[in-house]
Amino acid sequence: MSEHETLLARAQRVTPGGVHSPVRAFGQVGGTPRFMARAAGAQLTDVDGHEYTDYCLAFGPLILGHAHPVVQAALTGAIERGLGSGTAEPYSLELAEFIAQRVPWAAQLRFVNSGTEAVMTALRLARAATGRHLLLKFAGCYHGHVDAMLVRAGSGLAGRGEGSSAGIPPGVTDDTLVAPLDDEAALETLLARHGSRLAAAIIEPLPANHGLLPQREDFLRALAEGCRRHGALLILDEVISGFRCGFTGMAGRTGITPDLVTWGKIIGGGLPVGALAGDAALMRLLAPEGPVYQAGTLAANPLAMAAGQATLAALADGSVYRQLERLGQRLEAALADEPGGWRLVRRDSLFWLHPADGGPGTLRDPAEIPERHARDWPAIFHALLDQGIYLPPSPFEVGFLSAAHTPGDIDRLAAALRQAVAG
Ligand SMILES: *Cc1c(COP(=O)(O)O)cnc(C)c1O
Repeated sequence: MSEHETLLARAQRVTPGGVHSPVRAFGQVGGTPRFMARAAGAQLTDVDGHEYTDYCLAFGPLILGHAHPVVQAALTGAIERGLGSGTAEPYSLELAEFIAQRVPWAAQLRFVNSGTEAVMTALRLARAATGRHLLLKFAGCYHGHVDAMLVRAGSGLAGRGEGSSAGIPPGVTDDTLVAPLDDEAALETLLARHGSRLAAAIIEPLPANHGLLPQREDFLRALAEGCRRHGALLILDEVISGFRCGFTGMAGRTGITPDLVTWGKIIGGGLPVGALAGDAALMRLLAPEGPVYQAGTLAANPLAMAAGQATLAALADGSVYRQLERLGQRLEAALADEPGGWRLVRRDSLFWLHPADGGPGTLRDPAEIPERHARDWPAIFHALLDQGIYLPPSPFEVGFLSAAHTPGDIDRLAAALRQAVAG
Protein backbone atom coordinates (compact mmCIF):
# COMPACT_ATOMS: atom_id res chain seq x y z
CA MET A 1 0.00 0.00 0.00
CA SER A 2 1.33 3.42 -0.92
CA GLU A 3 1.25 6.22 1.62
CA HIS A 4 -1.60 7.75 -0.43
CA GLU A 5 -3.70 4.59 -0.12
CA THR A 6 -3.06 4.43 3.63
CA LEU A 7 -4.10 8.04 4.12
CA LEU A 8 -7.14 7.62 1.87
CA ALA A 9 -8.35 4.63 3.87
CA ARG A 10 -7.99 6.65 7.09
CA ALA A 11 -9.68 9.69 5.56
CA GLN A 12 -12.58 7.64 4.25
CA ARG A 13 -13.35 6.51 7.78
CA VAL A 14 -13.86 10.06 9.03
CA THR A 15 -15.00 11.88 5.87
CA PRO A 16 -17.34 10.86 3.02
CA GLY A 17 -15.05 9.75 0.21
CA GLY A 18 -12.04 10.90 2.20
CA VAL A 19 -12.22 14.45 0.80
CA HIS A 20 -13.97 17.73 1.53
CA SER A 21 -14.92 18.57 -2.06
CA PRO A 22 -15.90 15.71 -4.38
CA VAL A 23 -13.58 16.29 -7.35
CA ARG A 24 -10.56 15.79 -5.10
CA ALA A 25 -11.39 12.08 -4.76
CA PHE A 26 -10.23 11.28 -8.35
CA GLY A 27 -13.62 9.66 -9.03
CA GLN A 28 -13.70 10.98 -12.60
CA VAL A 29 -10.17 9.82 -13.48
CA GLY A 30 -9.82 6.72 -11.32
CA GLY A 31 -6.88 5.80 -9.12
CA THR A 32 -5.89 7.09 -5.71
CA PRO A 33 -5.84 10.83 -5.04
CA ARG A 34 -2.38 12.17 -4.25
CA PHE A 35 -2.09 13.61 -0.76
CA MET A 36 -0.14 16.82 -1.15
CA ALA A 37 2.08 17.98 1.68
CA ARG A 38 3.47 21.28 0.41
CA ALA A 39 3.19 23.76 -2.41
CA ALA A 40 5.39 26.61 -3.61
CA GLY A 41 5.46 28.48 -6.91
CA ALA A 42 4.19 26.12 -9.60
CA GLN A 43 5.21 23.04 -7.62
CA LEU A 44 3.25 20.57 -5.51
CA THR A 45 5.07 18.06 -3.31
CA ASP A 46 3.19 14.98 -2.16
CA VAL A 47 3.58 13.10 1.12
CA ASP A 48 6.02 10.67 -0.57
CA GLY A 49 8.22 13.55 -1.69
CA HIS A 50 7.22 13.37 -5.38
CA GLU A 51 7.02 16.72 -7.13
CA TYR A 52 4.46 17.88 -9.67
CA THR A 53 4.15 20.99 -11.79
CA ASP A 54 0.67 22.15 -10.89
CA TYR A 55 -1.88 23.28 -13.50
CA CYS A 56 -4.84 22.87 -11.15
CA LEU A 57 -3.68 25.54 -8.70
CA ALA A 58 -6.46 25.04 -6.18
CA PHE A 59 -9.01 25.31 -9.03
CA GLY A 60 -8.34 28.94 -9.78
CA PRO A 61 -7.44 31.24 -6.90
CA LEU A 62 -3.66 31.06 -7.27
CA ILE A 63 -3.00 33.18 -10.34
CA LEU A 64 0.37 34.18 -8.85
CA GLY A 65 1.24 30.57 -8.00
CA HIS A 66 1.49 28.87 -4.61
CA ALA A 67 2.88 30.74 -1.62
CA HIS A 68 3.81 33.87 -3.56
CA PRO A 69 6.24 35.89 -1.41
CA VAL A 70 4.15 39.07 -1.62
CA VAL A 71 1.02 37.23 -0.48
CA GLN A 72 2.92 35.37 2.25
CA ALA A 73 4.35 38.65 3.55
CA ALA A 74 0.92 40.27 3.61
CA LEU A 75 -0.41 37.27 5.53
CA THR A 76 2.42 37.36 8.04
CA GLY A 77 1.68 41.03 8.65
CA ALA A 78 -2.02 40.31 9.06
CA ILE A 79 -1.44 37.48 11.53
CA GLU A 80 0.50 39.85 13.75
CA ARG A 81 -2.60 42.07 13.99
CA GLY A 82 -4.82 39.21 15.15
CA LEU A 83 -7.08 36.78 13.34
CA GLY A 84 -10.22 38.85 13.14
CA SER A 85 -12.49 40.65 15.52
CA GLY A 86 -15.98 40.49 14.09
CA THR A 87 -16.04 44.28 14.21
CA ALA A 88 -15.81 47.13 11.75
CA GLU A 89 -12.17 47.24 10.57
CA PRO A 90 -10.15 49.04 7.88
CA TYR A 91 -8.88 45.99 5.92
CA SER A 92 -12.06 45.07 4.05
CA LEU A 93 -12.57 48.77 3.40
CA GLU A 94 -9.19 48.94 1.66
CA LEU A 95 -9.90 45.95 -0.55
CA ALA A 96 -13.41 47.17 -1.40
CA GLU A 97 -12.06 50.60 -2.35
CA PHE A 98 -9.27 49.07 -4.40
CA ILE A 99 -11.81 47.15 -6.47
CA ALA A 100 -14.52 49.84 -6.64
CA GLN A 101 -11.97 52.35 -7.98
CA ARG A 102 -11.09 50.02 -10.86
CA VAL A 103 -14.34 48.23 -11.71
CA PRO A 104 -17.03 50.75 -12.71
CA TRP A 105 -20.01 48.40 -12.16
CA ALA A 106 -18.85 47.56 -8.63
CA ALA A 107 -19.75 50.74 -6.76
CA GLN A 108 -20.43 48.68 -3.62
CA LEU A 109 -19.24 45.24 -2.54
CA ARG A 110 -20.13 42.77 0.15
CA PHE A 111 -17.52 40.16 1.13
CA VAL A 112 -18.63 36.63 1.93
CA ASN A 113 -16.70 33.38 2.42
CA SER A 114 -17.08 31.57 -0.92
CA GLY A 115 -18.32 31.84 -4.47
CA THR A 116 -21.36 29.82 -3.46
CA GLU A 117 -22.28 32.36 -0.80
CA ALA A 118 -21.82 35.21 -3.25
CA VAL A 119 -24.23 33.58 -5.72
CA MET A 120 -26.73 32.71 -2.99
CA THR A 121 -26.83 36.32 -1.82
CA ALA A 122 -26.92 37.77 -5.34
CA LEU A 123 -29.97 35.63 -6.15
CA ARG A 124 -31.76 36.68 -2.97
CA LEU A 125 -30.96 40.31 -3.67
CA ALA A 126 -32.23 40.04 -7.26
CA ARG A 127 -35.49 38.50 -6.09
CA ALA A 128 -35.96 41.22 -3.49
CA ALA A 129 -35.13 44.01 -5.94
CA THR A 130 -37.55 42.79 -8.60
CA GLY A 131 -40.26 41.29 -6.40
CA ARG A 132 -40.12 38.21 -8.68
CA HIS A 133 -39.19 34.57 -8.04
CA LEU A 134 -38.01 32.96 -11.26
CA LEU A 135 -34.34 32.48 -12.03
CA LEU A 136 -32.73 31.54 -15.33
CA LYS A 137 -29.49 29.61 -15.59
CA PHE A 138 -27.69 27.89 -18.46
CA ALA A 139 -26.94 24.18 -18.79
CA GLY A 140 -23.19 23.72 -18.46
CA CYS A 141 -22.64 26.68 -16.13
CA TYR A 142 -21.75 26.11 -12.48
CA HIS A 143 -22.68 28.56 -9.77
CA GLY A 144 -21.67 26.73 -6.61
CA HIS A 145 -23.80 24.41 -4.50
CA VAL A 146 -26.77 26.72 -4.01
CA ASP A 147 -30.00 24.66 -4.04
CA ALA A 148 -31.62 26.79 -6.75
CA MET A 149 -28.55 26.35 -9.00
CA LEU A 150 -28.19 22.55 -8.62
CA VAL A 151 -30.72 22.14 -11.37
CA ARG A 152 -30.53 20.63 -14.84
CA ALA A 153 -32.89 20.98 -17.76
CA GLY A 154 -35.97 18.92 -17.00
CA SER A 155 -37.74 16.58 -19.36
CA GLY A 156 -41.16 18.07 -18.73
CA LEU A 157 -42.38 21.62 -19.24
CA ALA A 158 -39.97 23.52 -21.47
CA GLY A 159 -37.32 25.26 -19.44
CA ARG A 160 -38.33 23.98 -15.99
CA GLY A 161 -35.43 22.41 -14.16
CA GLU A 162 -35.08 19.31 -12.04
CA GLY A 163 -32.61 18.79 -9.23
CA SER A 164 -29.11 17.71 -10.29
CA SER A 165 -28.42 16.58 -6.72
CA ALA A 166 -30.46 14.57 -4.29
CA GLY A 167 -32.08 16.69 -1.62
CA ILE A 168 -33.30 19.54 -3.80
CA PRO A 169 -37.03 20.03 -3.27
CA PRO A 170 -39.30 20.48 -6.33
CA GLY A 171 -40.41 23.80 -4.86
CA VAL A 172 -36.88 25.04 -5.49
CA THR A 173 -36.33 23.59 -8.96
CA ASP A 174 -39.72 24.88 -10.11
CA ASP A 175 -38.41 28.41 -9.80
CA THR A 176 -35.26 27.83 -11.85
CA LEU A 177 -35.44 27.78 -15.63
CA VAL A 178 -32.60 26.11 -17.52
CA ALA A 179 -31.69 27.27 -21.01
CA PRO A 180 -29.05 25.95 -23.41
CA LEU A 181 -25.91 28.01 -24.01
CA ASP A 182 -25.26 29.53 -27.43
CA ASP A 183 -28.91 29.54 -28.49
CA GLU A 184 -30.62 32.92 -28.91
CA ALA A 185 -33.82 31.32 -30.22
CA ALA A 186 -34.29 29.10 -27.15
CA LEU A 187 -33.53 32.08 -24.93
CA GLU A 188 -36.08 34.22 -26.73
CA THR A 189 -38.75 31.50 -26.37
CA LEU A 190 -38.13 31.23 -22.63
CA LEU A 191 -38.12 34.98 -22.15
CA ALA A 192 -41.33 35.38 -24.15
CA ARG A 193 -43.04 32.85 -21.91
CA HIS A 194 -41.54 33.68 -18.51
CA GLY A 195 -39.77 37.04 -18.84
CA SER A 196 -42.33 39.07 -16.91
CA ARG A 197 -41.82 36.81 -13.87
CA LEU A 198 -38.04 36.54 -14.14
CA ALA A 199 -36.00 38.02 -11.26
CA ALA A 200 -32.58 37.36 -12.75
CA ALA A 201 -30.56 35.46 -15.30
CA ILE A 202 -27.17 34.21 -14.18
CA ILE A 203 -24.37 33.07 -16.47
CA GLU A 204 -20.66 32.38 -16.44
CA PRO A 205 -19.64 34.81 -19.19
CA LEU A 206 -16.80 32.39 -19.95
CA PRO A 207 -18.20 28.99 -18.94
CA ALA A 208 -15.26 27.12 -17.41
CA ASN A 209 -16.77 24.49 -15.16
CA HIS A 210 -17.84 21.92 -17.75
CA GLY A 211 -14.93 22.19 -20.07
CA LEU A 212 -14.08 25.60 -21.47
CA LEU A 213 -17.01 26.73 -23.62
CA PRO A 214 -16.40 30.27 -24.91
CA GLN A 215 -19.63 32.04 -25.82
CA ARG A 216 -20.22 34.35 -28.77
CA GLU A 217 -20.45 37.95 -27.62
CA ASP A 218 -23.67 38.24 -29.62
CA PHE A 219 -25.23 35.56 -27.44
CA LEU A 220 -24.13 37.29 -24.22
CA ARG A 221 -25.43 40.58 -25.60
CA ALA A 222 -28.80 38.99 -26.48
CA LEU A 223 -29.05 37.79 -22.89
CA ALA A 224 -28.21 41.21 -21.46
CA GLU A 225 -30.68 42.88 -23.81
CA GLY A 226 -33.40 40.31 -23.04
CA CYS A 227 -32.96 40.88 -19.32
CA ARG A 228 -33.32 44.66 -19.70
CA ARG A 229 -36.37 44.29 -21.92
CA HIS A 230 -38.11 42.07 -19.37
CA GLY A 231 -37.01 43.96 -16.25
CA ALA A 232 -34.87 41.08 -14.96
CA LEU A 233 -31.41 41.52 -13.50
CA LEU A 234 -28.29 40.17 -15.20
CA ILE A 235 -25.87 38.45 -12.84
CA LEU A 236 -22.45 37.73 -14.31
CA ASP A 237 -20.87 34.95 -12.28
CA GLU A 238 -17.19 35.84 -12.58
CA VAL A 239 -15.98 33.58 -9.78
CA ILE A 240 -13.48 32.04 -12.22
CA SER A 241 -13.17 34.73 -14.90
CA GLY A 242 -13.00 37.70 -12.51
CA PHE A 243 -9.46 39.12 -12.20
CA ARG A 244 -8.31 36.37 -14.57
CA CYS A 245 -9.67 37.51 -17.95
CA GLY A 246 -8.03 40.85 -17.25
CA PHE A 247 -8.59 42.80 -14.03
CA THR A 248 -12.17 43.71 -14.96
CA GLY A 249 -12.99 40.17 -16.08
CA MET A 250 -15.33 39.22 -18.88
CA ALA A 251 -17.62 42.17 -18.18
CA GLY A 252 -14.73 44.49 -18.98
CA ARG A 253 -13.69 42.39 -21.94
CA THR A 254 -17.12 42.35 -23.57
CA GLY A 255 -18.44 45.72 -22.44
CA ILE A 256 -21.52 43.97 -21.03
CA THR A 257 -22.41 45.65 -17.76
CA PRO A 258 -23.93 43.32 -15.17
CA ASP A 259 -26.46 44.43 -12.58
CA LEU A 260 -24.64 42.20 -10.11
CA VAL A 261 -21.30 40.46 -10.37
CA THR A 262 -20.16 37.56 -8.21
CA TRP A 263 -16.50 36.92 -7.42
CA GLY A 264 -14.52 34.27 -5.62
CA LYS A 265 -11.26 32.38 -6.15
CA ILE A 266 -8.64 35.04 -7.11
CA ILE A 267 -10.31 37.75 -5.01
CA GLY A 268 -9.17 35.91 -1.87
CA GLY A 269 -5.64 35.20 -3.08
CA GLY A 270 -5.99 31.55 -1.98
CA LEU A 271 -7.95 32.14 1.21
CA PRO A 272 -11.72 31.64 1.47
CA VAL A 273 -13.42 34.76 0.10
CA GLY A 274 -16.29 35.56 -2.19
CA ALA A 275 -17.95 38.87 -3.00
CA LEU A 276 -20.93 40.29 -4.76
CA ALA A 277 -20.98 43.77 -6.19
CA GLY A 278 -23.21 46.13 -8.08
CA ASP A 279 -24.44 49.67 -8.12
CA ALA A 280 -25.12 51.38 -4.82
CA ALA A 281 -28.91 51.56 -5.11
CA LEU A 282 -29.13 47.80 -5.57
CA MET A 283 -26.48 46.83 -3.02
CA ARG A 284 -28.07 49.07 -0.37
CA LEU A 285 -30.97 46.64 -0.25
CA LEU A 286 -28.65 44.41 1.81
CA ALA A 287 -28.81 44.49 5.61
CA PRO A 288 -28.20 46.60 7.58
CA GLU A 289 -29.27 49.34 5.13
CA GLY A 290 -32.02 47.36 3.45
CA PRO A 291 -34.43 44.48 4.01
CA VAL A 292 -32.36 41.65 2.41
CA TYR A 293 -30.71 39.65 5.16
CA GLN A 294 -27.13 38.46 4.76
CA ALA A 295 -24.41 37.96 7.37
CA GLY A 296 -21.19 36.07 8.15
CA THR A 297 -19.30 35.46 11.38
CA LEU A 298 -16.02 35.15 9.50
CA ALA A 299 -16.93 37.40 6.55
CA ALA A 300 -14.14 39.77 5.47
CA ASN A 301 -11.68 37.89 7.63
CA PRO A 302 -8.55 40.07 7.80
CA LEU A 303 -6.19 37.29 6.66
CA ALA A 304 -8.33 36.70 3.61
CA MET A 305 -8.56 40.45 2.95
CA ALA A 306 -4.75 40.72 3.16
CA ALA A 307 -4.21 37.83 0.72
CA GLY A 308 -6.80 39.29 -1.63
CA GLN A 309 -5.29 42.76 -1.47
CA ALA A 310 -1.75 41.54 -2.12
CA THR A 311 -2.92 39.43 -5.06
CA LEU A 312 -5.07 42.11 -6.68
CA ALA A 313 -2.36 44.74 -6.17
CA ALA A 314 0.03 42.50 -8.10
CA LEU A 315 -2.50 42.20 -10.94
CA ALA A 316 -3.71 45.78 -11.26
CA ASP A 317 -1.02 47.10 -13.64
CA GLY A 318 -1.71 44.37 -16.20
CA SER A 319 1.84 43.00 -16.53
CA VAL A 320 0.93 39.60 -15.06
CA TYR A 321 -1.86 39.24 -17.64
CA ARG A 322 0.61 39.99 -20.44
CA GLN A 323 3.02 37.39 -19.06
CA LEU A 324 0.21 34.80 -18.82
CA GLU A 325 -0.93 35.60 -22.35
CA ARG A 326 2.58 34.84 -23.64
CA LEU A 327 2.57 31.49 -21.80
CA GLY A 328 -0.88 30.70 -23.17
CA GLN A 329 0.19 31.49 -26.72
CA ARG A 330 3.25 29.31 -26.29
CA LEU A 331 1.09 26.36 -25.22
CA GLU A 332 -1.30 27.01 -28.10
CA ALA A 333 1.52 27.13 -30.66
CA ALA A 334 3.03 23.91 -29.31
CA LEU A 335 -0.25 22.01 -29.71
CA ALA A 336 -1.63 23.79 -32.80
CA ASP A 337 -1.43 20.59 -34.87
CA GLU A 338 -3.94 18.86 -32.53
CA PRO A 339 -1.74 15.89 -31.58
CA GLY A 340 -3.64 12.60 -31.43
CA GLY A 341 -6.79 14.44 -32.46
CA TRP A 342 -6.92 16.43 -29.18
CA ARG A 343 -7.64 20.12 -29.42
CA LEU A 344 -6.49 22.76 -26.97
CA VAL A 345 -9.00 25.48 -26.11
CA ARG A 346 -7.36 28.44 -24.41
CA ARG A 347 -8.74 31.76 -23.22
CA ASP A 348 -6.46 33.97 -21.15
CA SER A 349 -4.80 31.69 -18.59
CA LEU A 350 -7.47 28.97 -18.76
CA PHE A 351 -7.08 25.88 -20.93
CA TRP A 352 -8.84 22.62 -21.66
CA LEU A 353 -8.33 19.78 -24.11
CA HIS A 354 -11.02 17.81 -25.88
CA PRO A 355 -11.18 15.38 -28.81
CA ALA A 356 -11.53 17.37 -32.04
CA ASP A 357 -14.07 14.86 -33.40
CA GLY A 358 -16.83 17.42 -33.79
CA GLY A 359 -15.15 19.35 -36.63
CA PRO A 360 -13.28 22.65 -36.61
CA GLY A 361 -15.84 24.79 -34.74
CA THR A 362 -15.43 26.04 -31.17
CA LEU A 363 -17.44 23.98 -28.67
CA ARG A 364 -19.96 26.28 -27.00
CA ASP A 365 -22.51 23.89 -25.49
CA PRO A 366 -21.85 20.85 -23.26
CA ALA A 367 -23.95 18.71 -25.61
CA GLU A 368 -21.23 19.18 -28.26
CA ILE A 369 -18.47 17.56 -26.17
CA PRO A 370 -17.65 14.24 -27.86
CA GLU A 371 -18.83 11.28 -25.86
CA ARG A 372 -15.39 9.67 -25.83
CA HIS A 373 -13.92 12.67 -24.02
CA ALA A 374 -14.83 11.44 -20.54
CA ARG A 375 -13.71 7.92 -21.45
CA ASP A 376 -10.33 8.82 -22.94
CA TRP A 377 -9.22 11.69 -20.69
CA PRO A 378 -8.36 9.64 -17.56
CA ALA A 379 -5.48 7.81 -19.32
CA ILE A 380 -4.02 11.14 -20.43
CA PHE A 381 -4.41 12.58 -16.94
CA HIS A 382 -2.56 9.61 -15.41
CA ALA A 383 0.19 9.64 -18.03
CA LEU A 384 0.88 13.26 -17.11
CA LEU A 385 0.64 12.57 -13.39
CA ASP A 386 3.29 9.83 -13.81
CA GLN A 387 5.53 12.42 -15.46
CA GLY A 388 5.12 14.87 -12.58
CA ILE A 389 2.42 17.09 -14.08
CA TYR A 390 -0.75 17.70 -12.09
CA LEU A 391 -3.83 18.64 -14.11
CA PRO A 392 -7.29 18.96 -12.55
CA PRO A 393 -8.49 15.40 -11.81
CA SER A 394 -11.56 15.61 -14.04
CA PRO A 395 -12.24 15.64 -17.78
CA PHE A 396 -14.46 18.69 -17.29
CA GLU A 397 -12.31 20.92 -15.08
CA VAL A 398 -10.09 23.45 -16.83
CA GLY A 399 -6.35 23.91 -16.36
CA PHE A 400 -4.85 27.13 -15.01
CA LEU A 401 -1.65 28.95 -15.86
CA SER A 402 0.01 31.09 -13.21
CA ALA A 403 2.71 33.73 -12.99
CA ALA A 404 4.89 31.04 -11.41
CA HIS A 405 4.98 28.92 -14.58
CA THR A 406 7.95 29.34 -16.90
CA PRO A 407 8.21 28.91 -20.67
CA GLY A 408 10.16 25.73 -19.87
CA ASP A 409 7.21 24.41 -17.83
CA ILE A 410 4.92 25.04 -20.79
CA ASP A 411 7.27 23.22 -23.17
CA ARG A 412 7.37 20.24 -20.80
CA LEU A 413 3.56 20.26 -20.51
CA ALA A 414 3.17 20.30 -24.29
CA ALA A 415 5.73 17.51 -24.76
CA ALA A 416 4.11 15.37 -22.05
CA LEU A 417 0.67 15.88 -23.58
CA ARG A 418 2.00 14.90 -27.00
CA GLN A 419 3.44 11.71 -25.59
CA ALA A 420 0.29 10.96 -23.57
CA VAL A 421 -2.15 11.31 -26.44
CA ALA A 422 0.08 9.14 -28.62
CA GLY A 423 -0.69 6.43 -26.04
C1 LIG B 1 -15.95 27.96 -8.22
C2 LIG B 1 -17.19 28.61 -8.72
C3 LIG B 1 -18.29 28.85 -7.88
C4 LIG B 1 -18.34 28.36 -6.47
O1 LIG B 1 -17.37 28.96 -5.66
P1 LIG B 1 -16.99 28.23 -4.27
O2 LIG B 1 -15.99 29.17 -3.66
O3 LIG B 1 -16.42 26.89 -4.66
O4 LIG B 1 -18.22 28.10 -3.47
C5 LIG B 1 -19.36 29.56 -8.40
N1 LIG B 1 -19.36 29.99 -9.66
C6 LIG B 1 -18.33 29.77 -10.50
C7 LIG B 1 -18.39 30.31 -11.88
C8 LIG B 1 -17.22 29.06 -10.06
O5 LIG B 1 -16.21 28.82 -10.90
